[in-house]
Amino acid sequence: MKCPDCGTDSFYVKDPEDQYNISEFNLEKGKIEYVDPDGDDERVEVLEDTEVFCNRCAWHDKFKTLK
Ligand SMILES: [Zn+2]
Repeated sequence: MKCPDCGTDSFYVKDPEDQYNISEFNLEKGKIEYVDPDGDDERVEVLEDTEVFCNRCAWHDKFKTLK
């Protein structure tokens, strides 16, 4: 599971309620590893239909398309 454009495994998601609240994560062996130091309640949940954004390039799409 990597970015189809640049190959990184580093992504972020935006809170649908608050576009300034983002959660960064790495995909390690297909598993989400959050990199932000915030507590669980601050994290944006990543679901199959969640829009995910690449940390390194302009790619973004639903999480399920990464699989
Ligand atoms: Zn990318």
